[in-house]
Amino acid sequence: MTAQLLEGKPVAEAVLAEAGARIEEMKAAGVTPGLGTILVGDDGPSAGYVRKKHETCEEVGLASFHHGIPAAAGQDALLEAVQDFNHNPEVDGYIIQHPVPEGFDFNQALAVMDPAKDADGLHPFNLGRLVLQEPGPVPCTPAGIQQMLLHYGVEVQGRNAVVVGRGPTLGRPMALLLANKGSAADAAVTVVHSRVPNLADYTRWADIVIGAVGIPGFITPDMIKPGAVVVSGGITWEGKKLLPDVDESVGEVASWITPRLGGVGPTTVAMLLRNTVQAAERRMAPAAA
Ligand code: NAP
Repeated sequence: MTAQLLEGKPVAEAVLAEAGARIEEMKAAGVTPGLGTILVGDDGPSAGYVRKKHETCEEVGLASFHHGIPAAAGQDALLEAVQDFNHNPEVDGYIIQHPVPEGFDFNQALAVMDPAKDADGLHPFNLGRLVLQEPGPVPCTPAGIQQMLLHYGVEVQGRNAVVVGRGPTLGRPMALLLANKGSAADAAVTVVHSRVPNLADYTRWADIVIGAVGIPGFITPDMIKPGAVVVSGGITWEGKKLLPDVDESVGEVASWITPRLGGVGPTTVAMLLRNTVQAAERRMAPAAA
């Protein structure tokens, strides 16, 4: 491996240190911000992600709340949990852990969510704000990847970025963030997906490649320009093993690459907590935030 590693932990620590300081300030003013999670079913990786989110809340002093919905309970039980968090004044932001099991309608539940409490930035209102470049919560995984590029000083402005995958939680918002104006942004962005033949013809020209597919080892060295920056946002669990979209051997060609473990996972959680703190600040001072 010759590439340098885009380790997520230092990025997350910096974001959480800043969030922690702001939480202390709010606590001094008599408010403890809170994050809620809704987990539907008992999928192992999803339960693990939710656990990690609560652990991180505890580390930084954020209150946390949880609804566990059995997979057999049905959509109405999910909507009840959403309404409960909408009306709970101790919850500033919350998430519905995705994906939800078959038979549940994630988008319908999102639409019922109070957009001011949407800690994942996936409510249509907030995705619209992202398109308009208005401040608001940004989907956590792409926001974490952008934060990672910023942290490691990767030049993004004016460069060719290719996002492989166009899913609503990762690929699509990632492309918007990189093409928007701002820091670690202003790129020339191309999005490729399953209907694009010969997609390596696109990735081979890219300075920055973001895997957002969910197929282990999908991005191989022959698809990468020497010296490119390659991030694996997409991940797949095979039993207890986490497999990124980007094959490890890409590290022989790239200049920067995310490690198999400890890449975008920690930054995703950190951005979720940042979104929650910002929601609490907006609630405390709606005109200022
Ligand atoms: P998704 O909605 O299923 O999107 C997957 C995308 O990959 C689709 O755009 C699909 O193309 C594309 N794709 C599938 N097979 C392909 C192929 N053979 N060639 C080219 N493109 C192909 O999934 P998602 O929710 O965006 O998630 C994508 C990955 O990101 C998953 O691994 C997920 O676990 C991961 N993720 C990680 C985090 C995190 O915290 N690290 C958070 C969110 C998501 P079509 O649109 O044409 O079908």
